[in-house]
Amino acid sequence: MRALAFLDGSLADSEAAHLRVDDLGLLRGDGVFETILVAGKKARELRPHLDRLARSAAMLELPAPDLAGFERAARAVIDAWPEGQEIALKLVYTRGVDGDPAGTPTAFALGVEVDASIRQAREQGVSVVTLERGFGPDLAERAPWLLLGSKSISYAVNMAALREAARRGAQDVIFTATDGSVLEGPTSTVVLAKDRTLYTPPSTIGILPGTTQYALFRGAEKAGWTVKVEPIAAVDLAQAEGLFLTSSVRLVTRVHTLDGVALPDSTAVHRELTAAYDSVYSG
Ligand code: PLP
Repeated sequence: MRALAFLDGSLADSEAAHLRVDDLGLLRGDGVFETILVAGKKARELRPHLDRLARSAAMLELPAPDLAGFERAARAVIDAWPEGQEIALKLVYTRGVDGDPAGTPTAFALGVEVDASIRQAREQGVSVVTLERGFGPDLAERAPWLLLGSKSISYAVNMAALREAARRGAQDVIFTATDGSVLEGPTSTVVLAKDRTLYTPPSTIGILPGTTQYALFRGAEKAGWTVKVEPIAAVDLAQAEGLFLTSSVRLVTRVHTLDGVALPDSTAVHRELTAAYDSVYSG
């Protein structure tokens, strides 16, 4: 099942061709996107996702996106979706057609199903390897043209890292910086639990500010946890009571194995944090 909508709210055939071959999103990966979980017909963290889309677009010096249009497109996809089924809703915004004097961006919302491997990761956790990302935590501020921390559609490196993880017998990755600190996953934020405190690295080091991590921290604080946004050393990952990857569609995923070594059982902490996260959306 797929559903496609444009910013005027019109639905279109998701199996038909709509993009031009000279779209700069396709030719250069020049664009930005968001992936949002829709559960019970509600788009989770819609406003933070829209704000982040606008922020990423500004980093790429794209025209400010029509956020009301994206909301309209999102609504059309949600309305077209069968009741009771989750959606991974993608908002895509590219620089548009190469050489277009009007510079009209390409923009659409695409709903896809949440596939079985994601459900499995949510329930059973994942095995993760640490991989070098090749930059230090100070680079993002020094070199904004590198677009570190934007959600650009240039995800080839992120996908290559996941293939490297698979070669090493793992399912996911935690990127490390040149100083040995933790960055993020290719499609997730790193969260560590220790002594009733949750830790995540600051987005100023060149990573995406995660909407799921933020929601989890809100829920966890209400449940009595302390939350801290501060650098994490990769050597400390294995010492935690729980290591998690958070992302909109995979939610709070438990890391059970790191670089081939089984981590202490964190199923109880995972259950507790999942309840704290869920509490943000119940009622
Ligand atoms: N970091 C990266 C690089 C991502 O691609 C994502 C999500 O896809 C995240 C972090 C997590 O962000 P969110 O929780 O908003 O989905």
